[in-house]
Order: sequence, then structure tokens, then C-alpha cells
Amino acid sequence: PRADPYGDCYHRNMVVEKTKKPKEKLPAEKLVFGQTFTDHMLEVDFEASKGWGAPKIVPFHNFDMSPATSSLHYAIQCFEGMKAYVNVNKGINLFRPEKNMDRLLLSCARLCIPAFDGTEMLECLKDLVRLDKDWIPDRRGYSLYIRPTVISTDATVGVSVPQKAKFFTILSPVGPYYKGGFAPVKLFADDFHVRACVGGSGKYKLGANYGPTIYHQRTAASYGAAQVLWLYGDQKFVSEAGTMNFFTLWVNEKGEKELITAPLDDGTILPGVVRDSVLTLCRQWGDFKVSERVYSIHELTKAVKEGRVIECFGSGTAAIVSPVNAILYQGVEYPIPLDPEDKSAGAGKLCQRVAQSIMDIQYGVVPSPWAVTL
Ligand code: PMP
Repeated sequence: PRADPYGDCYHRNMVVEKTKKPKEKLPAEKLVFGQTFTDHMLEVDFEASKGWGAPKIVPFHNFDMSPATSSLHYAIQCFEGMKAYVNVNKGINLFRPEKNMDRLLLSCARLCIPAFDGTEMLECLKDLVRLDKDWIPDRRGYSLYIRPTVISTDATVGVSVPQKAKFFTILSPVGPYYKGGFAPVKLFADDFHVRACVGGSGKYKLGANYGPTIYHQRTAASYGAAQVLWLYGDQKFVSEAGTMNFFTLWVNEKGEKELITAPLDDGTILPGVVRDSVLTLCRQWGDFKVSERVYSIHELTKAVKEGRVIECFGSGTAAIVSPVNAILYQGVEYPIPLDPEDKSAGAGKLCQRVAQSIMDIQYGVVPSPWAVTL
């Protein structure tokens, strides 16, 4: 056994090789999500005999790998999605980044990829963001999308515990999810296909959870819906919306005003950073009951029919919150209310308040321990 399970993967060992050919930056308004990448990337290689190697910041480059590389065959791959923001003081903020590192380590463990030190890796990642900080568009709503990724790199088509792996992080400047205010979406509640099941890998951020969903995403689109509302189990419990956690604000059967979202305890739900932030904020505000418990599509559609649904929205790093104006289930379209007083808002009142509050933290308008300033 190695003396130090983390090998040489410490911030103090980091090597930086700056690019000699900086790329031209696109004007902020021309940015398309996930298509533009910055000048540098972070890379750390793992080998079973040596542990994790020294971290390297190097010019953004293509990989040279064997066509047998096991991640290409068996999706031995996991990733994260987080963002950096130019704050109101022209500094750079990350939003609760330690939660992404913790989640990535859980995903690695699920794939039998040995742990690195998450705090040290975060320090390396911060240096990468600092080096490419000029790529972050300096406008509210704009950000730098950060994609930490881990892949197995064994050159074998054997299905086995990885003996080699690579951690890397690439950065992509992105514009706001909603350019001209909120645009509420319709969801297609699929009553047959599941994203994740009890005993599966839904609570981990594995690439293997995403590839098989694009087929259903396309089906949803053919019904004019933006996303699938994933259901699971015999009772058709409401789980997630596309790649977002899903919230309903309603008056429940007991007559209580309640914000409800699927619980994390059965392992089918991705524990979203924004999900946790929404729950924490709403519990602090104390305006209504906040519940993490199962509820079925039947309960939800019944509540719509009885006029008890106040609003529904998805939550995630990309959009923060995404308002829902309709759910299509078994051929029936159930309308979901938005702001009853402000028809132009395009979102319910809670959705608007959550978006404002989280953005104010991300852009440093309101000080918070959730904002980590570089
Ligand atoms: N659910 C799924 C399936 C996701 O892929 C994501 C995006 N990571 C989320 C929820 C939202 O997570 P977060 O709030 O951490 O972005």
C-alpha cells in the first residue's frame, strides 16, 4: 500500500504551462452553451501503482488515447458542472464549489476510481479559473461553466476496476440561460421510461446516466415539451425534470402551503447544489412548509385539477431555476400557474425570488458563505 493514497496530487506540486497561442474570444452575445473553451485546462493522471500524479495546468488540447480505452466502451466516466462569476467588485466567485468536489468524489467511488483530496483539487481548479479569468463575461447572468471530469484510461476492453484514470477540467464561457427574462417550459411526464431506479446509479453524476436520456429528450421535443419529467416506480413518483431537480409549490391535501421535492434517501435523485440551496433558503424564509418526500404524478395532476398547484420549477446550475407552465401526462396537458399578478414575469413568485436570491449571492450583491471569492 502507498503511504499517501492521494499520491502527488497536491496544489503545491502543480505545474503550469501557459499557452503560447491564446485564442480569440467571442463577443459575449455570440456564446452558445458548451461550444467555446478557454486557453487552458487542468489535468491529473492516476495509476494504480503510483496513485494520483502531480496536477498540471496546460494549454487546452486533444487527448491521444488507445481506441481500447475502457471509458470509451463502458462509460467509466463521471463529471461535475459548476460555474465562476465575475462579482460586483470585479473579483471572481464560485458558488459552493466544495459540494461539487464532494459529489465528484462520490461518483469516482461508485466507479472504483480512487479518491483524491477534494480540497487540494479545488485549489488547483481555482488557479485554472484565475489563469483564464479574462474569459469570464463580466455581466449579470453570464458565467464561466466549469466541467471537471474523470475518465478511466486503461487501454483494455476488459470490464474491470480502472488501473488508470485521468481527472481533467475544461472551462467554457456561457451566456444567461434566459436572455430576455424567464421562458417557462412544458414538461412531458413519461409514464414508462425511467432515468434512475432504486438500487441504480441516479444519485451519482455518471455520464452513463445521461447518454440514454437523449432519446427520451427527443420524444419530449416531438410533443412540444422542453424536457422529460421523470417518474419512477409503480406509483409514478415525480423525480426530476430533464437534468434538473424538480419542485412543486402547492396547497397539499391537508390544506398546508408546501414546497415539495423528491427525497434523496432512495438514491434515485441527483443531489443538486441548487436543490440544497433552494431548500435551505426556503426553510430560512419560513413562509411555507418545506418537504423532501415522495409524491406521485397522480397527486400532482389531481392538485392541478383542484387548483391547488401554485407553481412548479426545475433547479440546476445551468438556469438556477426553470419555470414550468404545463405538464403533459398520458395525453392530457395540465396547465401550471405562473405569477398570477404579473403576467409578463414568465415565472411564479417563488421561482423569481429564488433566482434573485441565488444570483445576488453568486454575483456578490449579497454577502454569503456560499460565495467563494478567488
Ligand atoms: N439533476 C440532474 C440529473 C442533473 O444532471 C443536475 C445537474 N448537475 C441537477 C439535477 C442539478 O444539480 P445542480 O443543482 O448541482 O446543478
